[in-house]
Amino acid sequence: MAKCPICKHNIATPSQLYLPGWSSLVCPHCNTKLAKDNRAVVILGILLMTMSLTSMAGSDRRLTLTLAGVSLLLGVYELLRPRLQVKKDIWD
Ligand SMILES: [Zn+2]
Repeated sequence: MAKCPICKHNIATPSQLYLPGWSSLVCPHCNTKLAKDNRAVVILGILLMTMSLTSMAGSDRRLTLTLAGVSLLLGVYELLRPRLQVKKDIWD
């Protein structure tokens, strides 16, 4: 489930791995073409990179575990409730 950024209705989203479903995602209430917002994936990548750097540098173990926990929670939240944005057509 995700929320339409235009009409704020809940929309059933396809599985994360089903790419054809994501490319043709349309809000059934306002007929807006939608795409997945990838900001959380970028934040997750930065968290994982920071976690790996802190673990290699031999710094505080609690910091590494905290970053791992936050990364796991963000990943699960992004899987369950992905954020949507209005799809921009290249040819418009
Ligand atoms: Zn809508």
